[in-house]
Order: sequence, then C-alpha cells, then structure tokens
Amino acid sequence: MKVNKNSSAAQITRAYAWMLLALTTIISLAIITVVGYNLVANKRQQATSLMNSLQHSFIDNQPDWNYWAYTSPMDTSNTFVKITVDFPKKPTKTFYSKNTESFLDNTWDTWPLLSHIQYQDDQGFYYHILATKTNKKGKKIRYEIWLGLNDAIHLFKLILEIIISITLIGFVIGACLIPLLAKRLNAPLVHLTVTAHKIVKNPEMTHHENLPVPQRPQEVHDLSLEFNRLLNSLNQQVIRDHQFVSDASHELRTPLAGIRGHVALIKRHGHAHPEIIPNSLNFIDTESQRMQELIEDLLQLSRMDHAQLTLTSTNMTALIHAACQRYQTQIPQPLDLQLQPNVYALANAPSMEQILISLLANASKYSPTDQRITVSLTQQQQHVYLAITDRGVGISAADKAKIFERFYRVDSSRSQKIAGTGLGLAIVDRLVTLSQGQITVTDNQPTGSQFRLSFEAVKNNS
Ligand code: ADP
Repeated sequence: MKVNKNSSAAQITRAYAWMLLALTTIISLAIITVVGYNLVANKRQQATSLMNSLQHSFIDNQPDWNYWAYTSPMDTSNTFVKITVDFPKKPTKTFYSKNTESFLDNTWDTWPLLSHIQYQDDQGFYYHILATKTNKKGKKIRYEIWLGLNDAIHLFKLILEIIISITLIGFVIGACLIPLLAKRLNAPLVHLTVTAHKIVKNPEMTHHENLPVPQRPQEVHDLSLEFNRLLNSLNQQVIRDHQFVSDASHELRTPLAGIRGHVALIKRHGHAHPEIIPNSLNFIDTESQRMQELIEDLLQLSRMDHAQLTLTSTNMTALIHAACQRYQTQIPQPLDLQLQPNVYALANAPSMEQILISLLANASKYSPTDQRITVSLTQQQQHVYLAITDRGVGISAADKAKIFERFYRVDSSRSQKIAGTGLGLAIVDRLVTLSQGQITVTDNQPTGSQFRLSFEAVKNNS
C-alpha cells in the first residue's frame, strides 16, 4: 500500500525515528566519553604510582630494577623507564630499564592537545610521564616512564564495538516497530474515515448513519461522539424536512382535490342545474383562500429558517394597546387590557404585533364569542411578561407538548371545522425564538388557556 508522506502515521514514524537517532547518538557519545576519560585517568594514576615506586627504587645513585618491579603496584613488563642523572662536574649518567633502549629507537608521534600520549606504528599507544628531582648537592635526576596503553585501547575498542552493535540493533528493531506502532496508533482514525466514506458512498442511505466510537484514544473517541451528535442533529433536520414536505403536500392536496371536484361538478351539471354553481363557487373561493393562507404561512416559515430579527428597544405598552384596539373590531370577544404603563422590551415591532395577533386569533377561534380575552403586560426585573388568557376550550396536557409543531392541529379543532393551517403557533414559536424570548402555555382556571411570553426588558430612556 502506498504510504502518504503527509499522513499522521508517516509523521509519527519520522518523529520517532529522529528521536531514536538523537537519543542513541547522545547516549553513545556520553558512554564513549565517560569510558575513554576513565581509562585515561586510570592510566595517569597508574603512571603516578609507578613514578613514586621508581623514585624509591633509585638506590646508591643507580636504579634497582628488580626492587622497583617488586614494589610497583602493577605489572611493569609493558613499561619502559629512562633515568638521567646529572652530577655536578661529572658526566651525565643514563639508566634504561630492560628493552627501553631499543623501544626508544623508534620515532614517536605526539599531538599538541594530548601531550602525554605518544604513538608508534609497531608499539602502539603509550602514556608518557616525566619527573625531575634535584638534591642539595646539585644532583639532578630525571625520571621518564612510558606506560603501555594498548590494553586500555583494546578495552575501549571492545566497548565501542558493543555500543555500535547495540545501537544498530536498536535501529533495526526501531525501524520495524515504529511504523507498526504508528499504524496501530492511527488505526481508530483510519477506521473512522473508512466507515464515514462507506456511509457517504452508500447509495441506499436515506439518513446519516452513526460512526463507530472507539474507546481509545480519547481524542478520536471525543471526535466520533461529536460527529455522531452532528449526524443526529442532521438526521433530525432531514426527518423534520421530510415530514414538513409531506405534511405541506397533504395540506395543499386536500383543498385542491375539493376545488377540482367542484370544478368537475360545475362542468358536468352546471348547464342542467345552474343552482349548484353559487354553492360550488363559494366552496372554491373559501378553499383557495385557505390555500393562499397556507402558502403564505409556508413561505414565511421557510424564510424564517435562516432569518435574523433586528431587535430594538420597543414600547410594548403602546404597541400592544394599539394592536389590540385595531384587532378588537375583527373579533366578537371583548378584549380586557391590563397593561403596565411604559414597559420597554428588546423586540422587533412588526414581529411582536404578528405574535400578538396570532395568539389573539387563536384565543378568539377556540373560545365562545361572549367570553372575554385578557391581555396583560408586566415587567419584573430584567423580564417583560406578556400573557394572553382566554376562557375557551382549553388544551389537554398531551396536546400542549405538540401544538408548536408544524401542521399540528388538535383533533377537536379539525372535527369542529375551525379554520386553520396548523402553522400559526409554529410561526409564533419561531418568531419568539428569533426575538430571544420564551413562550409557554398553561391552563386558565376554571377554563381556557394562557399563553405566556417573556422578553428581555430594556430601560426606558425617553
Ligand atoms: P391552527 O391554524 O389550527 O389554529 P395553530 O398552530 O395556531 O394552528 O394551533 C395549533 C392547535 O393548537 C390548534 O389546532 C388548536 O387546536 C390549538 N390551540 C391553539 N391556540 C388555542 C387556544 N387558545 N385554545 C385552545 N386551543 C388552541
């Protein structure tokens, strides 16, 4: 399978590989430095103790090599010594330990920073130490020791080889394991993507299916949960839209069928029985009016799906008073206004008037004609409360939960043939939400219902 270099697995692999490389390099360098330093320090210490024992073995103006070898704290076989004695007014005497003369015949390489280390092709590396001593009579003794470093270097090489081998093995194991680990870490994400792709590509899909929710890692778990929440809300929306379209077509089809029936009736029997024509025309007129109202309501609802209202400080007392006075002429029930003066709310005046008229129309439709309807307006701290109370048929508890849904009509209103589309309260509910308000419905005592709305109060600046 082709690996995308921008994939998260490839990025994890690269990051881990660099980290492994940096870590092993640092650790190896640290080990090599510490081991190398310890080996050199060890040799220096050995050379110093050899020098001490050498100075004690210089008896009667000449060295006792056997005594020195015996008193030395370590093996002297790989060690060479040269002692030069300067007597005042006497020729200089030089003493060599066994094989030292031939050892010194070679030419030696030295390095400025490592002045104690000397190298020769045949002999290898040596640690060179020098000490001079002058006694009161002017005798000057110069001690020189060459201490073989080859054993230490051998050990150092061995350690180096071990470290390099371990590092290489680590790299090989890392190179095999890191991509597997990266793949494993990414598996839930890949699974999520594949499933989402399958869901999208499924031609039979009628709604958004849920994605699998892995337990780990937490981020992918949360992401899938959030995705599913989003999908559920989209599903709800899709279901609502389907329902809306099917309800709308049903509501439009019913009056249309009636109209077509009456048109057919006039066509067939209009000539022979002209007396049926006015009745049919009346029916066609009423039903076409109902259709018009329905279409207007539908259009308003669909426009409001993406609408926003401009809310300003509105004199609710004046607005409600004027609207009620105008509307009183269109309904038989007397309106009882209980309006607190100078109440201002954050509102959109035309929408507020539409809400009020809609609720008044309902109160009037579902109440006996002689029962008054009360409209009250009060302000309590930060809230303005508007209540429309009727003494009509009331609404059952089960219906209260549904009356704000689109096209919902209580059965009794259908059976009693009260005109309506079932969209009035859905529009009111949406307008209240857009006005950042709230609406509730409760029972009125002893009969009827109360629609109570609340809006944000504003201080009156006038
Ligand atoms: P409609 O066009 O049917 O009035 P609405 O959305 O305005 O549609 O109302 C939905 C249903 O709620 C109505 O069919 C009616 O049964 C019920 N309803 C609304 N207001 C009242 C009220 N004041 N009293 C009794 N029932 C009401």
